[in-house]
Amino acid sequence: MAAQETADNKYVYDFAEGNKDLKDLLGGKGANLAEMTNLGLPVPPGFTITTEACKAYLATGREPDGLAGQIEAHLVALEREMGRSLGDPQDPLLVSVRSGARFSMPGMMETVLNVGLNDRSVVGLSAQAGQNDRFAWDSYRRLIQMFGKTVCEVPGEEFEHALDEAKRAKGTTNDLDLDADDLRGLVDAYKKIFLKHTGRDFPQEPREQLDLAIRAVFESWNAERAVLYRRQERIPADLGTAVNVVAMVFGNLGPDSGTGVAFTRDPGSGAQGIYGDYLANAQGEDVVAGIRNTVPLQELERLDKKSYDELLGIMARLEGHYKDLCDIEFTIERGKLWMLQTRVGKRTAAAAFVIAGQLVDEGLIDLDEALHRVNGAQLAQLMFPRFQLDHEFQPVAKGIGASPGAASGKVVFTSARAVELAAEGEAVILVRRETNPDDLNGMIAARGILTSRGGKTSHAAVVARGMGKTCVSGADEIEVNVPAKRFVVDGRTVSEGDVVSIDGTTGKVYLGEVPVMPSEVVQYFEGSLDPEHIDNALVRAVHRVMTHADAKRRLAVRTNADTGTDAARARRFGAEGIGLCRTEHMFLGDRRELVERLILAATATDRQDALAALLPLQRADFVEIFREMAGLPVTVRLIDPPLHEFLPPLEQLAVNVAVAQERGEDVAKEEALLAAVRRMHEENPMLGLRGVRLGLVIPGLFAMQVRAIAEAAVAVTRDGGAAFPEIMVPLVGAVQELETVRTEAEKIIAEVVGDSGVEVLIGTMIEVPRAALTAGQIAEAAQFFSFGTNDLTQMGWGFSRDDVEGAFFWRYLELGIFGISPFESIDRDGVGRLVRIAAEEGRAARPGLKLGVCGEHGGDPDSVHFFHEVGLDYVSCSPFRVPVARLEAGRAAIETDGSDSR
Ligand code: PEP
Ligand code: MG
Repeated sequence: MAAQETADNKYVYDFAEGNKDLKDLLGGKGANLAEMTNLGLPVPPGFTITTEACKAYLATGREPDGLAGQIEAHLVALEREMGRSLGDPQDPLLVSVRSGARFSMPGMMETVLNVGLNDRSVVGLSAQAGQNDRFAWDSYRRLIQMFGKTVCEVPGEEFEHALDEAKRAKGTTNDLDLDADDLRGLVDAYKKIFLKHTGRDFPQEPREQLDLAIRAVFESWNAERAVLYRRQERIPADLGTAVNVVAMVFGNLGPDSGTGVAFTRDPGSGAQGIYGDYLANAQGEDVVAGIRNTVPLQELERLDKKSYDELLGIMARLEGHYKDLCDIEFTIERGKLWMLQTRVGKRTAAAAFVIAGQLVDEGLIDLDEALHRVNGAQLAQLMFPRFQLDHEFQPVAKGIGASPGAASGKVVFTSARAVELAAEGEAVILVRRETNPDDLNGMIAARGILTSRGGKTSHAAVVARGMGKTCVSGADEIEVNVPAKRFVVDGRTVSEGDVVSIDGTTGKVYLGEVPVMPSEVVQYFEGSLDPEHIDNALVRAVHRVMTHADAKRRLAVRTNADTGTDAARARRFGAEGIGLCRTEHMFLGDRRELVERLILAATATDRQDALAALLPLQRADFVEIFREMAGLPVTVRLIDPPLHEFLPPLEQLAVNVAVAQERGEDVAKEEALLAAVRRMHEENPMLGLRGVRLGLVIPGLFAMQVRAIAEAAVAVTRDGGAAFPEIMVPLVGAVQELETVRTEAEKIIAEVVGDSGVEVLIGTMIEVPRAALTAGQIAEAAQFFSFGTNDLTQMGWGFSRDDVEGAFFWRYLELGIFGISPFESIDRDGVGRLVRIAAEEGRAARPGLKLGVCGEHGGDPDSVHFFHEVGLDYVSCSPFRVPVARLEAGRAAIETDGSDSR
């Protein structure tokens, strides 16, 4: 290659030099174009400018040394290969300049087509196309439009307006009715627009066009919408984009030309078959932008059998090669097929499971790989409910089920309105003719997206699927009128604020709010669908992958449950015990009065009476839970929150007392309560009298709970059942606290249990940083640890868990101080380090110490992987997240412990 290239500053790669594993350097598009080139598939020649060049440009604001020379050398090689040169007035080479980052960001960054056209080469292009002046001038006006908009920030509407004007003058609404002269006139109009906004003429020098287009692609990495998309999809901000410079091929040369997008399987359901959209006589961007309605790919067989057969052969080959669903962009130029892009395709959650199962059946991948290819977020999505339809609901329109799910909400027509109403807590459906990248904010805010144009591969469809958001696209019976804030369907007018329901699986649109029904996956987990006996590819695939995850995982999965009902549901979802039974909920409702008596007790006898009244109620609670868990371990946490949480709020009480006094009523009891609440008032209750501190201050409170637990376990055992309680002390920071509670608890347990054979463990939460740092000492007194990562995060960061998420997390996320709330996903470096230290030091002091986690992080996919790495014995999470945790624990095991297939 060129003389300027050395091993450490090679910024440009010919397609023949790359491969699919070089995505970091060449971006997804470039790496896969290289892979296809090397497979011998028909890819137009070209080269890729690396992400390294982009990063260097973004860091310094100028192209790195050597880049210009390398581009020149590769351009010369491309010209030689094509037998044409850029800008040649007789026979010009034209190129496209396309972005392509490591992770696909559909429609987020820039593309410029037809680079190399100018006032002279437009004539040569016409000759090349068989004296097709119309085509040549149409290509030129597209260049000025795309270049003006994306490279020079000329407002796109001005070009649109000029195009509309040209059509109006011609008395048509169809672009295809404009002839060569009309388009030549349009080029003049476009040039004037360009000059008006940029203060310069449209650049005639092809190399200048190329360099400016490359620079615009580099810069598009930091465009607002790209930054927003990356934040939403958690794509790192520092990757940069590669730039692909590719010889143009034309799908708009006549009816024997066209362009399309295809999938090797249905990305919606995973069903086998050929799926795609084709648009004759058009350029690629027309399909993705959803500007004109496409025909199903199968139509191509009728239009051009040779190309169709070749395409099917290539698709089969790609799927076998990538061992996965591939999506493809192609163009046919006068009967010759060209591959413009492939990649492992995005898919819905359902398709991810179904395809993984199919590929195992087809022998392309093994079960470890199948497990690796699905994730907990997808499983969680499949556990969402769907519409419950009866004849009362008739669809008013049917579009394409572009991203599955069921969503109802108030209709809005602009992204801004979607954001506004969503911020007020409203569910909204964003309705557009088609979406474009500027609608991203509204799409994020909306429950669902409905468009009247565009196919499965339109912007709306691709982006919604990526977000897991319900989308119906191409519902063309709907006439959308954005300025009037309404749409008309079937003679009926739907205005902003009216409620509609959209089904992203069937593509159907309903007026009003349709009730929803539970997901089949939930029904399977609940045990009401037997995967062996039903014909449901999704349920069978979920069953298969879950069974494999269960076989592979090292982490047990327990649940956080405080009632028999929750415990029962969690067991059906596969929970292997209760990791956190919070007892405070058991003191609410009609038991509040007993708690008030306890708090207000003036003497030891009064207090004992109140506790004695609570004891049988608590015992009954535990009997119910132990029965449901049938011998599985149940960690019961002694009461944790500050006691005034059980009393009325201070202000309310003060007002009540004042009003009652005013009326001359007897308020002795309320006054006593008010005095107690004032006495117990704390500035920072989360750091005050709660957890073990409460147990040490209020005589008999913990003792009553310990007795209730032990008595319940004995009662269940005597009835022929089994109970395995683990008593957990909250908020311990020092071993002495735990020892004090334990000494008293052990006495009670010994007395109650007698010779019943019941065994009760005593352990502690690790949720105060000091406990984590003195875990070696605490382990001497604890039979198990359970990490309370909610409090550990609160106290580790010094963030009030009740206040900060609303107050300032948005700013922290914006600044990238963290990528996700540390209350949602464990902060590995800080809070995670405390967990790691405590696990190591605890186990060093007491080998075999049982370790679990019961904070919210126990059901978060990424955190589950972390807890696996740290070597915990189990995670515990809410019942609904139990399947997610099981799946992710299996994935963590194959990913860290090695898999047979990778
Ligand atoms: C925790 O702090 O992580 C925990 C499980 O306890 P709670 O959320 O009840 O404070
Ligand atoms: Mg806690």
